[in-house]
This record gives sequence, structure tokens and C-alpha cells, in this order.
Amino acid sequence: MQQPLRIAVVGSGPAGMYAAAALAESGRASVDVIDRLPAPFGLVRYGVAPDHFSIRSVRDTLDRIWDQPGVRFLGNITVGVDVHVHELQELYDAVILTYGSSSDRHMGVPGEELRGCVGATDFVAWYCGHPDADRAFFESWLPTVKHAVVVGLGNVAVDVARVLAKTPEELSTTDMPAHVRATLASAAITDIHIVGRRGPAQATFTNKELKELGELEATGVSIDRHGLDEETGWSTGDRGVARNLDVIRGWMERPEPTGKTLHFHFMARPIEVKGNGSAEAMVVERTHFDAGGQISGTGELLDIPAEFIVRSIGYRGVGLPGVPFDESTGTVVHAEGRVTHGLYTAGWVKRGPSGIIGTNKKDAVATVHQLFADADAGFVSASSGGDLEGFLASKGVVPVSTAGWRAIDQAERALGQEFGIERVTIADRATMLAIAEQA
Ligand SMILES: Cc1cc2nc3c(=O)[nH]c(=O)nc-3n(C[C@H](O)[C@H](O)[C@H](O)COP(=O)(O)OP(=O)(O)OC[C@H]3O[C@@H](n4cnc5c(N)ncnc54)[C@H](O)[C@@H]3O)c2cc1C
Repeated sequence: MQQPLRIAVVGSGPAGMYAAAALAESGRASVDVIDRLPAPFGLVRYGVAPDHFSIRSVRDTLDRIWDQPGVRFLGNITVGVDVHVHELQELYDAVILTYGSSSDRHMGVPGEELRGCVGATDFVAWYCGHPDADRAFFESWLPTVKHAVVVGLGNVAVDVARVLAKTPEELSTTDMPAHVRATLASAAITDIHIVGRRGPAQATFTNKELKELGELEATGVSIDRHGLDEETGWSTGDRGVARNLDVIRGWMERPEPTGKTLHFHFMARPIEVKGNGSAEAMVVERTHFDAGGQISGTGELLDIPAEFIVRSIGYRGVGLPGVPFDESTGTVVHAEGRVTHGLYTAGWVKRGPSGIIGTNKKDAVATVHQLFADADAGFVSASSGGDLEGFLASKGVVPVSTAGWRAIDQAERALGQEFGIERVTIADRATMLAIAEQA
């Protein structure tokens, strides 16, 4: 029998896990899945909304991949810091980069740097219990917030708005860390504004996520009617979009809410964040479709009070030293998943931040096929290889093993039992590492 290939996968989100599964199932390779965090699964753990239980349960499917022979987790290792890609290439027969899109796009408006104005990446990471989230900021800031603005017309914007809108009871069965639930419960937010420069027909929300906003326990929906009489904002041949428009029309027929309100402002683009040291209001300019069908400003301005502003206008990948990277798209440069012979890519860092979890499976499998095609052509071959753990040990770095992750997982489930729920996420890196070390 041929000696198996030794593959390093960088990033344990869905793309990395599906690549690992495809490699292991082939019987031709053993895989080390490396992640900078002590816990695996990327945005399935640190992005997907904690109140979307069925999608969160994809974690259980991904978790079974660790049981496949030859698949190992090496957590708490940052590629580009603890080990470089070229060093991994020396230690393994091939490397697959699946490290996702960890940064986000900015609005490019004055005042964006004011305190209280954050990226969805930061806020989502905090409410999901990401170890690197800025706890001190969110825990001190959110209790002072009455008005929030979410910029963007996609599902992440909807997630953010829904988390801000829900009552403590509505969030009580999620796996959010206790400090997150307590902070959200202490925030006395009265108004949440979703702002987007385009019309409802161009928004990218999926119907199920949009509809949920109209079914919240204590928050009503209000639609700013500006621009909604324009034909272009509504017309569509797409059935999914047509269903969204029906939902929005339905909301427009409801009486205006009297309590906590979620306001939609379509056809409104951010112009400025006003404030003295911290955000106080967002200025938006009403937009319209010009004669060429493009969005342009009308000159009419609207001030929306907001002490908390979350921009949700796209995630973005960042480059790693020595790896060809396209700054304009925030993706690794590749052809059909191959960067060079022996170096491959899959997932968001390959395609950009689009598609659902399942999209990454097809994508990762295609990349693994490319790798095996290169192996069959003699460009990638099994070598005696090196020892990553030995390399890391020489630098005093100890990875979290699969057993270490399983211990963290058990500790989270045990914590959940205390509250009568499935699990509570442990957010503190030192605690996670201590649990893993004992394993
Ligand atoms: C807020 C949000 C909500 C979403 N909700 C849904 C949903 O409800 N349903 C759905 O189908 N899809 C959803 N998605 C999309 C889905 O999460 C993505 O399609 C998917 O996670 C992308 O997979 P990935 O493996 O490419 O990247 P990621 O999931 O981001 O995984 C990348 C991994 O690489 C690691 N990493 C990064 N840099 C390094 C480094 N230098 N060294 C080592 N490791 C590194 C990260 O820690 C992470 O674990 C959502 C996305 C977001 C942002």
C-alpha cells in the first residue's frame, strides 16, 4: 500500500472540516487541521446566530469528522505567527488554506472611528463568545445604548438586529455565555434601525430570516416609506425576492408599533457618524435609482439617533506572508483551488464571503480533487515529512489536541446542564486552555 500523504489544513471552519473529511475518506491522506482558536468550526461556532439552533447543530456533524482515522485537531496555533505557510510546506506534503474572512469592510464615512461604531465581525464574535472579542467594550457600552443602527441589507445584518431586539427570555435557551446574556438584558434599547442604500428588491436577506423579524415577542417593525413607491425598488422576476417583498408589504399594513421598534430604511446611504468622542447619530442620505438604473443620492438627509452602530457590509479575508493575495477581493490567488503545486485553498478565503455552509463542502471537495490530480501527476508525493508538534515545542507552543477540544466540549455541555440547556460557550481562552491541558 502507498504511504499516505500528510496534509495540513489551515482553518477548522466548514471548508477546512469538509476538506479534512474528503481527504480522510479517500484513504490516501492523514490530516492535521490547524486553527488559531482552542475550539474548532470557525463561523459555525463564532458566527451563526446562537438562536438558530438547527444551523448551530451543524457543529455536531462537523464534530464527527474528528472520529475519522488520520484526522487531528491542532488548535491555538496561529499560522503566520506560530508557524509560517512555507514552514508548513516543509513539514507536510501539501497545505490547504481554509482560514476564512476574519476582517470586514468599512463604510468610508467621517466619524466611523468614533466609540460605539463597530464591525459586525466584532459584535457577532462577542455575542458568540469568541475568545478574542473586546468584552470590556461591549459590557460597558451596551448598557448605555438606547438607539442602534445596523448598516446592511443581508442576513448578518438581520442576525445582529434580531439579537438586539430579542428579550432575555427569547435568548435564554441559546449557548451564549452568561456575561453576553446579562449585558444584552441590561441594555435598554428602544429603537433599532436597519439602513441600506438599495431597495427591498435588491436586499440579500433570505425569506425565513426576514420573516422572523416580524415575529419577535416585544419588538414591532416599522417601514420608512421613502423610495418604496419607486418601481425599481420593488420590481423583480425572482421568486425569493418576491416573497421578501410580500413580507415587507404585510408589515406596512400593520399599525405602527408603540414599544421597542425595528425600523427599516431602504434607499438610504450612510454619510456621516456624528458625535463628540462617541457615536450619537448616523446621518443618511436618501437615495434613488437614476436614469441609468444606478443608485445615487437625492441630497435629502436624515439624522438617526444612534449610540451603537454596527456595519454589516461584508466580511473580508486577509493575506498571509508569502501567499499570493488579491487585496481587491480579499482572497488567495488560485486557479481551481490550486495556488501552486502543493498549496491549495477552499472556502471563504478562496471564493470571498458568500454562500451558505453547504457551499463550502462542494468547494472543499473540488479542491481536494485538484490536490489528488496533482498527486496522480507526480507533483505532490508522500515524504517522511516533519513534525509540527516538535517544531512548535521548540518555540514553547503547545497545541490543543482533539482530546483537548473534546474536554472543552464536555465542560461546555456540563455548564449547560446547570442552566437546563444544551451548552454554554466558554469564552475565556485561558479557561479553555486549562481544560484542554488537563485532557
Ligand atoms: C455572522 C454570520 C452568520 C452566518 N450564518 C449562517 C447561517 O445561518 N447559515 C449558513 O449556512 N451560513 C451562515 N454563515 C456563513 C458560513 O458561516 C460560512 O459560509 C462559513 O463559515 C465559511 O467557512 P470557512 O471555513 O471558509 O471560514 P470560517 O468558518 O471563517 O473558518 C475559518 C477558520 O480559520 C481560522 N483561522 C483564521 N486565521 C487563521 C490563522 N492565521 N491560523 C490558523 N487558523 C486561522 C479561524 O479561527 C476559523 O476557525 C454565516 C456567516 C456569518 C459571518
